[in-house]
Amino acid sequence: MHFGQIPRVPGDPILGLMDLYRADTNPAKLDLGVGVYKDAQGLTPIPRAVKLAEQRLVDSEQTKSYIGGHGDAQFGALLLRQVLGSRAIALGEQRAGCTQAPGGTGALRLAGEFIAKCLPGRSIWLSDPTWPIHETLFAAAGLRVQHYPNVGADNRLDADGMLAALQQVPAGDVVLLHACCHNPTGFDLDHDDWLRVLEVVRARELLPLFDFAYQGFGDGLEEDAWAVRLFAETLPEMLITSSCSKNFGLYRERTGALIAVTSDAERLLDVRSQLASLARNLWSTPPSHGAAVVATILADEPLRQIWQDEVERMRRRIASLRGGLVEALMPYGLAERFAHIAQQRGMFSYTGLTAEQVRRLRAEDSVYLVESGRANVAGLDAERLDALAKAIARVLS
Ligand code: PMP
Repeated sequence: MHFGQIPRVPGDPILGLMDLYRADTNPAKLDLGVGVYKDAQGLTPIPRAVKLAEQRLVDSEQTKSYIGGHGDAQFGALLLRQVLGSRAIALGEQRAGCTQAPGGTGALRLAGEFIAKCLPGRSIWLSDPTWPIHETLFAAAGLRVQHYPNVGADNRLDADGMLAALQQVPAGDVVLLHACCHNPTGFDLDHDDWLRVLEVVRARELLPLFDFAYQGFGDGLEEDAWAVRLFAETLPEMLITSSCSKNFGLYRERTGALIAVTSDAERLLDVRSQLASLARNLWSTPPSHGAAVVATILADEPLRQIWQDEVERMRRRIASLRGGLVEALMPYGLAERFAHIAQQRGMFSYTGLTAEQVRRLRAEDSVYLVESGRANVAGLDAERLDALAKAIARVLS
């Protein structure tokens, strides 16, 4: 027997929550668990720009032969501009490169493998809390994982605590930073905070690794890139993972990239040689379709405009639901207590609800949240904000 002694490990808790939600027969059930954008009908539609690009691709695609180790070159060039800005100095100096990967997750894993192999002995510092896959993914790549705070005991952003922790990080270590729309808390740094983080990163010679999974979902496509671009303009070296899952709605097409910024063009060739070699052992070459869709959209002005409008619509919907929920909590005297929901950015909100309160919401009202109290605000429904506010008030009383 080969498989007789293999221990069974628990499944992903968020995916488990999805199963419970599916099995719930209450027609008023509300899924605030899994991290996908939903529209007013509770659906995660394919953006129109993506559909149009796909139709073009079906007609024009000539081959299904492999794409290269760094992926689709046009996708890479266009994504670099989308992330770093078309006038980025690093682009002009040819010291920024893009390696396509299967989603943001693939890009993060490639970054982890790169750090483990090429920068041995460096720890990676994650925000506490962070997207749970960060914890397991970097450990699986062989890195030592350490933490800096993001929220305080009062369930509010703790930028000072974060700064103080970063000041203690050993020189050379890698710091993972959520570029915008922090997952899971929704608490983003403001410009002054970012400038302070930049100073510490520079003074301590830390290597920033930005996880940029929600460009366009916070304050806008350009605004959300502010911190990434600030660091890229100021520091000679950094890594960025970009995901096209949310802003292009391409979740299952596994579309993302690892961007490396180096001090000069020669160093970029060294780093890219390693990334291609590491990727070869992970997935050989990346999938083509999602990247071809993104390249088709970003290269075509009318399609790009349609896409930008769609991202903006998603962003505004989330922002209005945030404000709407706080307003709906007002009659219960809870608007102040939950005011942070309107200040947070992106799909997620650390509500401050306890695991027990989350369990009650699920059992009594078929409202599904992760036990940490994280709610996917995009799962809300403007028509049902009052009902949700009432349910929250009840579990708090
Ligand atoms: N980083 C963060 C912070 C995320 O929330 C996600 C998706 N949940 C990812 C990376 C990865 O996204 P994907 O692999 O689906 O592109």
